[in-house]
Amino acid sequence: MANLELHAGLYIVATPIGNLSDISPRAAATIEAADLLLVEDSRVTGKLLGHLGLKKPMRPYHDHSKDSDREAILSQLSDKVVVLVSDAGTPLISDPGYKLVHEARARGLHVGAVPGPSAPTMALTLSGLPTDRFLFAGFIPNKDKARADLFEEFRGLRATLVFFETGPRLAKSLAAAAEVLGNRPAAVARELTKMFEEVATGTLTELTERYAETPPKGEIVLVIGPPGEADAPSEEDVDAAIDAALAEMSASRAAKDVAARFGLKKNDVYARVQERMKR
Ligand code: SAM
Repeated sequence: MANLELHAGLYIVATPIGNLSDISPRAAATIEAADLLLVEDSRVTGKLLGHLGLKKPMRPYHDHSKDSDREAILSQLSDKVVVLVSDAGTPLISDPGYKLVHEARARGLHVGAVPGPSAPTMALTLSGLPTDRFLFAGFIPNKDKARADLFEEFRGLRATLVFFETGPRLAKSLAAAAEVLGNRPAAVARELTKMFEEVATGTLTELTERYAETPPKGEIVLVIGPPGEADAPSEEDVDAAIDAALAEMSASRAAKDVAARFGLKKNDVYARVQERMKR
């Protein structure tokens, strides 16, 4: 490993999501240069250190850590190299770190990052679904209403959707997504970079059937394609939404809200709003 001369500060270092060989030379050198590692679970990071042949002081860090713990860490950033890692992948992506980075930046402290593996982007690139616009929304909630509300929120969004899910809940989420979003193309990316890596593609309904009987094992990312032309909202739906919005807000606000909800151009919706107002 090359010796790195690092400026004191906080370093966000991505680690493998399964295959330890995915640790980058710069990630390894940054960990080697660290005075302190902030970790989720010292047993998990301990295995990575063993793989690298390193021993380092570790301190647990979570976003729900006490303010006094965060202060103690922040006070070290002006003269120590402090490296933040998570159990797997890129820290802060559904993992701890946001509050710490926010505070470090607010105080003008140095923040650097070593990019690397992350399950959502790997799943997206493998999915065969459009990658030009995507929205990552973390874990799908487990309660029926919260799950349906989440999909409803994204129904009109012209973007590929990326979520984390677990095996036992997958079929239920796929069925709920099909009901709210329509039968879109999707991909289930499982155990990425590991021995049983698998990417299953099909419509939401096909994938629901595939996993209903036998829930898959391991770690999962669910990728759902954007709405197709066939999913375009009917004129009646748009008009009804405009009328409801106009009862509560200005014409321009109504056009903005309805355009966002259905993934339409604001100018087109505004023209329709003007028409509805004449009635
Ligand atoms: N920060 C991590 C990253 O950048 O990939 C994500 C952490 S999040 C707490 C953990 C979730 O990521 C898992 O429950 C799973 O949905 C997904 N995940 C992590 N590793 C994965 C893998 N090897 N294959 C598929 N999904 C994975």
